Amino acid sequence: MTNKKLFIPGPTMVHPDVLAKMATPMIGHRTKEASELQRNISDKLRQLMFTSNRIVLSTSSGTGLMEGAIRSVTGKKAIVFAVGAFGKRWHELALLNGVDADLHLEEPGHPNFPETVDRYLKTGKYDTVTITHNETSTGIMNPIESISEIIQKYPEIVWMVDTVSSLGGVKIEIDRLGIDVCISSSQKALALPPGLALASVSEKAVERCKSVGQKGYYLDLGNLVKYVDEKDYQYTSTPSLSHMFAMDFQLDRILKEGIENRFIRHMEMAEYTINWASHHFDVFPMPGFESMTVTCIKNTRNISISELNNELGKKGMVISNGYGEHKDKTFRIAHMGELTLDDIVEVTDAIEDILKLK
Ligand SMILES: *Cc1c(COP(=O)(O)O)cnc(C)c1O
Repeated sequence: MTNKKLFIPGPTMVHPDVLAKMATPMIGHRTKEASELQRNISDKLRQLMFTSNRIVLSTSSGTGLMEGAIRSVTGKKAIVFAVGAFGKRWHELALLNGVDADLHLEEPGHPNFPETVDRYLKTGKYDTVTITHNETSTGIMNPIESISEIIQKYPEIVWMVDTVSSLGGVKIEIDRLGIDVCISSSQKALALPPGLALASVSEKAVERCKSVGQKGYYLDLGNLVKYVDEKDYQYTSTPSLSHMFAMDFQLDRILKEGIENRFIRHMEMAEYTINWASHHFDVFPMPGFESMTVTCIKNTRNISISELNNELGKKGMVISNGYGEHKDKTFRIAHMGELTLDDIVEVTDAIEDILKLK
């Protein structure tokens, strides 16, 4: 068993004390203790997410809640804005569930622009919008502040945001931005083992769920919320209590670090990586729209990413190749979760040594 330092965009490294919490002895999932555990997690997540909305947890990865959410809230038609593979996934999930949806895919490297969002919403054809806040496949961070200003002009819209690889690393003020459904996973910037997903759900989204017909059972957002409301923070089926013990503890660690400090740490790591990448290679996203948790680097030197990773592996580190069609044309260095600036300096120095960039 090798314990490499992970510079991949999920799963990220988990602190040993958090890992140990996964081994907490079981409790009944219908006990007062389970309610209390789940209530505590929700309260802490509300702080991290700047929201007073309800929180639901799902024993699935983030894709599960993305699938459940799009089929639970789309009454008329959804417009899916994408800047990479995870954005496109939301469109695929819609179609596979018989949900009417259009896809707007931006030019490579470009973010979703607020004017484009406005152009679609003006048609009046849509009642649901999805945006990827931080597109992990291309390292693009979308301008959700300015997109929010457009969406607030259309009160009938339920707005869903994928923050799978940004929540816990980047400030996302859900209530101020008016995000109705904000989805994330445990294994990225929150630095927990994979297997638990979470979402905040606004009153508007809860109301919408009531008017939508076929929503399945396990991932019906309306049903999840109803259970949380009526059964004191419990779930329809047996959840991964092990993840919840770990999450409760990890959220304490995050609050102890200080939410703002944590965001600053991520910004510093991003700034360093983006500068380093611009100096030795080129950065994939349009300037100003670079992710704060993962840098996607253009392979301008035509290096073999797998050979680079072999060499990094000998030093106990691993980075990520490009995603899908960008596999060899880009590579990615993640800087999220438990990582610090010292770790980033260590991996970029090692890359300089291996590639003789010095
Ligand atoms: C990882 C990721 C997903 C998929 O999440 P899972 O938890 O693996 O299902 C979706 N969106 C983004 C932006 C991601 O980074």
